[in-house]
Order: sequence, then structure tokens, then C-alpha cells
Amino acid sequence: MKLADLDENDKALVEEARLFLEKRHSKNSGVSAGLRTATGKEFFGLNIDPGTATVGVCAEYSAIATMHSSGERRIRTLVAIAHNDKGRYTILPPCGKCRDFARAFGNPFVVLQVGRSIGESKKVRLLELIPFPWDKRS
Ligand SMILES: [Zn+2]
Repeated sequence: MKLADLDENDKALVEEARLFLEKRHSKNSGVSAGLRTATGKEFFGLNIDPGTATVGVCAEYSAIATMHSSGERRIRTLVAIAHNDKGRYTILPPCGKCRDFARAFGNPFVVLQVGRSIGESKKVRLLELIPFPWDKRS
């Protein structure tokens, strides 16, 4: 896996996604996602966990839906951040559904936490997290 250092835009996106979660987290939303598009626009979303596991929505879905609704179609960088009861933030890797969903919007960089704090992060191309992606054309 080819991990790369975050650039200043990536670090800003991580902090903005963390601040978004800090402002908006609730009993039903403990994860935020932030994304930067190929055109440089940023979008954010929260997970929605209504307490019924089968109908929850991931934060990445929420951010991507907001992006898509604005007319943007290509993601450059994607990050998800969780908040726990101790007030600590961690970067989460996208779940399998989100990896597949995000793939429809390019091969973005995904930010991964590689150390104990969100400041210890790297980025990797999404397709490196999906070694054998499903393709309806094959
Ligand atoms: Zn997910």
C-alpha cells in the first residue's frame, strides 16, 4: 500500500471535518465526513444512527450526497472522523459500502490514521483499499 503525506489542504480538511463534528454531533451522530472535490469545493456530512442498525447512514454517504446534490461529481480527498465519550477524535477508514460508493466519484485519496492521534495520518488512493473492485461491465 502506497501511503502519502497529507498536504496543507488535506490537513485543513481534517480539521474542518473535526470542527464540523464538534459542532453537530449528537446522540444519533458521532461521525463526520469531509471531502474536497476535484474543483476544490468542500462538503461535510454526519452519520445518522437512529438506533436501528439496518437503516443507519454513514457520514461518507451524507457528505457525498450533499456534494452530488450540488452538481459536483469528482472527489479528490475523503476523511471520516469519530468522536467518543472521552472527547477524543479518531479518523476512521471507510466501511466497505462507503469504499464502493465513493468509487463512483473517482479514485480519491482517503485519509487514514496511522498513529495514536488524528495528526498522525497518511493518505492512500481509494482503489488501494479495494484490491478487486466489482465492475458491472466485466
Ligand atoms: Zn460507511
